[in-house]
Amino acid sequence: FGTKRRYLDSGLSHHNIILGERYQGLLGDIFNKQKLADDFSLYLHMPTITDPSIAPDGCEGFYVLSPVPHLGSGTDWTTMAQPYRDSIIEFLEANYLPDLRANIIAERHINPLHFQNTLNSYLGSAFSVQPILTQSAWFRPHNRSEEFDNLYFVGAGTHPGAGLPGVLSSSIIVENLIGGANEPAYVRSTPGLHTMEQAV
Ligand SMILES: Cc1cc2nc3c(=O)[nH]c(=O)nc-3n(C[C@H](O)[C@H](O)[C@H](O)COP(=O)(O)OP(=O)(O)OC[C@H]3O[C@@H](n4cnc5c(N)ncnc54)[C@H](O)[C@@H]3O)c2cc1C
Repeated sequence: FGTKRRYLDSGLSHHNIILGERYQGLLGDIFNKQKLADDFSLYLHMPTITDPSIAPDGCEGFYVLSPVPHLGSGTDWTTMAQPYRDSIIEFLEANYLPDLRANIIAERHINPLHFQNTLNSYLGSAFSVQPILTQSAWFRPHNRSEEFDNLYFVGAGTHPGAGLPGVLSSSIIVENLIGGANEPAYVRSTPGLHTMEQAV
């Protein structure tokens, strides 16, 4: 969301982790009970504190993330999205951003239905396969299909996992699997760069 005023006196930083009173219980609600809790813990991003040029003069830009259970929870986001959004904005207004509601001039919010219906993500999951021990490292879906020759997988749901570093790593792994190269892709694609074995 964007505001028509700056919030440089808010005490906020570029990255802000705002933990609720019962962080462990909240995680239990999300991952074990699969229920949408009344409280939340937030990641609040305020990039304009570092680079004001990404918003119009005198304005501030924010991004707020609240972890919630996937659609297996049965949460009806067609009715819950607006009140959930309202409670977060009211919380931010009461604790960090005075008069926030009156100052918001641009806003977009998404929920697990967007991840399911627009991004085709199973159960509207935002981070793909949960990285528990039995779904991590070798136990995660492999990058080469075990059923079909010449079928390869990249992305958050494969090895090594979600997040841009993991996703980019999966593409390099697949490039090496397909190419059958003896050296990493970054070595092959960098002119003049050779491995120690080649050098000697
Ligand atoms: C709110 C949020 C914040 C995040 N923050 C960070 C962060 O700060 N740092 C970080 O490293 N990672 C972050 N991540 C994780 C990171 O964004 C993901 O792990 C990564 O984008 C996954 O990449 P991907 O290519 O596997 O999937 P995606 O980026 O989801 O791309 C898959 C694409 O495939 C398309 N698609 C689906 N089905 C089909 C189909 N049948 N045909 C054609 N196209 C299709 C989808 O529309 C989508 O565009 C964040 C994720 C979320 C949700």
